[in-house]
Amino acid sequence: MSNVVLVTGGAGYIGSHTVYALLDRGDRVVVLDNLSTGVKAQVGKDAIFVQGDVADAGLVKKIVAEHGVDAVIHFAGSIVVPESVRDPLAYYDNNVVKTRSLMQAVVEAGVKQFIFSSTATVYASDAPQPLAEAAAKSPISPYARSKLMAEWMLEDAGHAYGLRHMVLRYFNVAGADPKGRTGQSSPNATHLIKRAAMVALGRLPQLDIFGTDYPTPDGTGVRDYIHVTDLAAAHLLALDALRGGAASVTYNCGYGRGMSVREVVRGVEKVTGKPLPVRISDRRAGDPPTLISDPSRIKAALGWKPAHDGIEEIIASAIAWEQRFNR
Ligand code: UDP
Repeated sequence: MSNVVLVTGGAGYIGSHTVYALLDRGDRVVVLDNLSTGVKAQVGKDAIFVQGDVADAGLVKKIVAEHGVDAVIHFAGSIVVPESVRDPLAYYDNNVVKTRSLMQAVVEAGVKQFIFSSTATVYASDAPQPLAEAAAKSPISPYARSKLMAEWMLEDAGHAYGLRHMVLRYFNVAGADPKGRTGQSSPNATHLIKRAAMVALGRLPQLDIFGTDYPTPDGTGVRDYIHVTDLAAAHLLALDALRGGAASVTYNCGYGRGMSVREVVRGVEKVTGKPLPVRISDRRAGDPPTLISDPSRIKAALGWKPAHDGIEEIIASAIAWEQRFNR
């Protein structure tokens, strides 16, 4: 029996880190990416790279048959929340319709194992924190809704066709490969740590702090930042569990601890040894005050152990990548 994993979106941020993690331990990997946002140069050289669309059923079936794919990790998708509000049908197409097509193709090709990238934004904003997997769902943005729709499709496909799957709900992913091989490359990224790294390098004049009047200890938004390398490791554990026969399940991926915007700013200042210019701004529309995971399930079931959870390590790796990437 062959063990070859098909990674869709393997040229993207989280996908490319996971591909390196798989290759580093000697796994065989095929990457399928249409390069709409991904960067080919960030795909590990030992992976087989196919440029194409996940909705191209013929191509997907050909890849599965040719390489003996036994499992799929599906990262490909659109991820920008405000963009999803402006153009929801594009998001439902990319994240739901194309995911449906991918699922059908792999099921027909005989694949039985599937890992799906989901998001903490599927949870209801008034659900109690930290958020356990069973917490109430009430996605607000078309992006978050598209992810929950895909989760439901997967659940139904699991029952109907025996497609065993793991859904990983990501909290705030940040940082970059400690070896400097890949990182966050989207030019217009709005994420806090990415923006803070750009400010630290003088590429932006200052960091906007979106709201200082939240019901949080210091008034700024609190998030559960997780190093992308620890998240990649979670995918490998999920893959191994599926290959070992594990039943379908959903896991939160976060550290279970909250950090405020001001704490992140202080972390940046510690890493650079310089004050970080900030500007107090209004709240950003749609931002919840707090988002913290309860990761006990993945820790207990898969033995997942964060290895890069220091905020300064996360920030330093993001700055190092930013420096290399934008050279
Ligand atoms: N944030 C901020 N300034 C920025 C970007 C983000 O103050 O330039 C805040 C945002 O309001 C939230 C936290 O940082 O409280 C994390 O935002 P991010 O966009 O990184 O992730 P999100 O939680 O929105 O997915």
